[in-house]
Amino acid sequence: MEFETKYENSKKCKSDGQITDSDHVDAEKGMPAAEGKPDIKSLTLAELTGELNKLGEKPFRAKQLYQWMHEKLARSYEEMTNISKNLKEKLEQNFTYTSLNMVTFQESQIDGTRKYLFELADGNVVESVWMKYKHGNSVCISSQVGCRMGCRFCASTLDGLERNLLPGEMLDQIYYISRHTGERVSNLVVMGTGEPMDNYDNILKFIHMLTDENGLHISQRNVTVSTCGIVPRMRQLAEENLQITLALSLHATTDEKRRRLMPIAYTYRLEDVLDACRYYFEKTGRRITFEYSLVRGVNDTEEDARELIALVGDLNCHINLIPVNPIEERDFRESTAEAIRAFQMRLEKHRLNVTVRREMGRDIDGACGQLRRRHKKEM
Ligand code: SF4
Repeated sequence: MEFETKYENSKKCKSDGQITDSDHVDAEKGMPAAEGKPDIKSLTLAELTGELNKLGEKPFRAKQLYQWMHEKLARSYEEMTNISKNLKEKLEQNFTYTSLNMVTFQESQIDGTRKYLFELADGNVVESVWMKYKHGNSVCISSQVGCRMGCRFCASTLDGLERNLLPGEMLDQIYYISRHTGERVSNLVVMGTGEPMDNYDNILKFIHMLTDENGLHISQRNVTVSTCGIVPRMRQLAEENLQITLALSLHATTDEKRRRLMPIAYTYRLEDVLDACRYYFEKTGRRITFEYSLVRGVNDTEEDARELIALVGDLNCHINLIPVNPIEERDFRESTAEAIRAFQMRLEKHRLNVTVRREMGRDIDGACGQLRRRHKKEM
């Protein structure tokens, strides 16, 4: 059987934290297929129809099965009342069925944000977050187990990258949460653990399946994918004819400062990253979001605000200021409320579109990767 969905080779951060072009190439080819049986939840409807045809089944069966998995969010074949016992047995023999187990969840007493820790079939764990907004419910998912990008302010990268997530494993984070909360998910952000552009093929397939009319049918315009700035993949994404939002983790206004925070800046210059952002806007018409984590004394000064205006002032963009979450392994500290407000006002004075990210779930393990790390320490 041929499937595009594969586990990639495990890769850890290099000691100097630098990522090279060849790393990205290596990470996307020569990937061994998942050992044993493929994951049925990671197959598109067309792929599933092809596979069921090989098993002697009609196309309408594939559609029924697809809807059970991706629209009715069935946790196992047992729930599928109109699928015969015989076909279920054949499916068991030929495929695995991704169904995440919830290890734990925390709920904020302040704003109802829920943070989930899920166990995958191989024992790895990933985090997802459910947030309730006036405009609808939003889920933030992980795209990898760990991350090899080495951003200095991030807990998710402290142990490097374990592996990529399959489309079915990304989808099931949303499906589980949707069932658990009993509420529809209308917005999706891929900003949890992992660099989405480092798991490109699986992310692309995941987006197509998430927005498929036979599945949850979430609008592409309600999907945001973040990147730390992998230029070739950003340009490739611009060509995919999608209407999703691209969010660039900018965090600093010069290559030198950015390198202090994000090792990826050794590989791709800011100038090239911003050119890729312009290209994305040209091709898709979608406004770019710039994520800017404010770290006290590092990138929150008046000079930083001036440089940021000079850098992105000409772009059709939205700037999201993020008060950085302190993590115990690193010594970065959150900017003061006054510094955040002053930074915001300087940008707004130049008619830039700015928001300060609301701190959701402040009273739970809010920062990306912290719940997973605590779980690993306790094991
Ligand atoms: S911020 Fe994102 S890209 Fe950077 S290390 Fe963390 S998970 Fe990876």
